[in-house]
Amino acid sequence: MIPSKIEHVAIAVKSIEEARKFFEGVLGLECYAIEEVADQKVKTAFFKVGETKIELLEPTSPDSTVAGFIEKRGEGLHHIAFAVDNVNESLAAVEEKGVKLIDKQQRNGAEGLHIGFLHPKYTSGVLTEFCSKN
Ligand code: ZN
Repeated sequence: MIPSKIEHVAIAVKSIEEARKFFEGVLGLECYAIEEVADQKVKTAFFKVGETKIELLEPTSPDSTVAGFIEKRGEGLHHIAFAVDNVNESLAAVEEKGVKLIDKQQRNGAEGLHIGFLHPKYTSGVLTEFCSKN
């Protein structure tokens, strides 16, 4: 299990409308999708930078984990997502090496991807996600 690339970098924001002023207006990147992920209570906005995406995460409810994150740490880097071939197999492989998981099994993320999170305590403090298309 070796990740093939950084699939996306996710940034927690209070307002996508505010944040996209920098990504669109200053950097000139195009927002190619806005999607709500109901079970994570977030709205997401995507920008492509080469092969990697920037994903803005805006909480849609005060009890969203992203709302809790912003409350505690302010806006900023929320997680890094590595592309892997198979999320369930990759989660099992790192767990075998002693990494604690947030998700024991993959779940559905934005853009129809399978996703699973590793505990940030085991990843230098940065919440880490595996994702795959399959
Ligand atoms: Zn993600």
